[in-house]
Amino acid sequence: MTSISLGMPAAPPPVLAPRRKTRQIKVGSVGVGSDSPISVQSMTTTPTTDINATLQQIAELTASGCDIVRVACPSADDAEALPIIAKKSQIPVIADIHFQPKYVFAAIEAGCAAVRVNPGNIRKFDDQIKEIAQAAKDHGVSIRIGVNAGSLDPRLMEKYGKATPEALVESAVWEASLFEEHDFHDFKISVKHNDPVVMVRAYELLAERGDWPLHLGVTEAGPAFQGTIKSATAFGALLSKGIGDTIRVSLSAPPVEEIKVGNQILQSLNLRPRKLEIVSCPSCGRAQVDVYTLAEQVTAGLEGMEVPLRVAVMGCVVNGPGEAREADLGVASGNGKGQIFVKGQVIKTVPEDQIVETLIEEAMRIAEETEEAGGIDGQNGVKGSPVVSVS
Ligand code: SF4
Repeated sequence: MTSISLGMPAAPPPVLAPRRKTRQIKVGSVGVGSDSPISVQSMTTTPTTDINATLQQIAELTASGCDIVRVACPSADDAEALPIIAKKSQIPVIADIHFQPKYVFAAIEAGCAAVRVNPGNIRKFDDQIKEIAQAAKDHGVSIRIGVNAGSLDPRLMEKYGKATPEALVESAVWEASLFEEHDFHDFKISVKHNDPVVMVRAYELLAERGDWPLHLGVTEAGPAFQGTIKSATAFGALLSKGIGDTIRVSLSAPPVEEIKVGNQILQSLNLRPRKLEIVSCPSCGRAQVDVYTLAEQVTAGLEGMEVPLRVAVMGCVVNGPGEAREADLGVASGNGKGQIFVKGQVIKTVPEDQIVETLIEEAMRIAEETEEAGGIDGQNGVKGSPVVSVS
């Protein structure tokens, strides 16, 4: 038996830019801003009054890697449900308030970790900031000033003609100044727009104006395919410059999908430890195996794997061996067989119909040995540098 060092780095992998310096706030147990890891949020789609269904959805979101969850609070009945939801949720709960300022106070008193307020559509919001700031301070609750293109202050709509980046930023900076006048600083800001170009520009401008933590979002991004691309493009543009402290991908799809996309965006930019990564070729006229099916079967077989493993699935022996060698585990297929690589070394050659099961077996073995060598650090990925045995 020989041994192969996986040689995975103990130091954090490189990022495109250092994080923008911000003040730090707390959303319950989760830090937002400064050096806190960028958190991923979603929002429940169940009626908040249906406490069991809402808690069930929160549990599913938590299991899929959601850090913070938001629930809507449009009525007195919803406000009444908040204390139990806030108490029983495994992750911090933010109450989302529109129109009625009295629910801001209800949410603060209900034990929610934070309250999202939309200044453009809460009645007489500016007149009540002093009381809101005081109540939030008394209860250790943070606030999100959530400016939204679809509900911009009419005064600014008149001034700018539409929800331009400048209009969104002016609204946000104005509201921030009112909270700060009352010596309240525990807030983050979002300036969401459905157009990634407007949204990116708005956040860039806002980032120049103050050290507030920023919550990124492309609002009403659309169905899963379009929304994923819009969000990845916009968040990528900002995160690659260090802008953004917490994110929410908005999809017309189940909220768990939002979390998957959000986590994948952060992982792709090395802003969150990478887990399973399938490197599969697009296939071409040289392919000697059905790469699509092979990649799908390997992905399905390794779903939920926590160890940051790069698995290469390559369709032929032209580029396959080179790519497979670069991965932790890989296959290069050809002539009805698959050469299985572990960290650059061919460990065996198997018939085509055994490729999937062999890759899954080897991945499980590497995962086990990685965990034995030091396990996974939630913040930085692999702790140790495991040695994998080759039989
Ligand atoms: S690995 Fe082979 S089959 Fe896949 S794209 Fe490259 S040349 Fe084509």
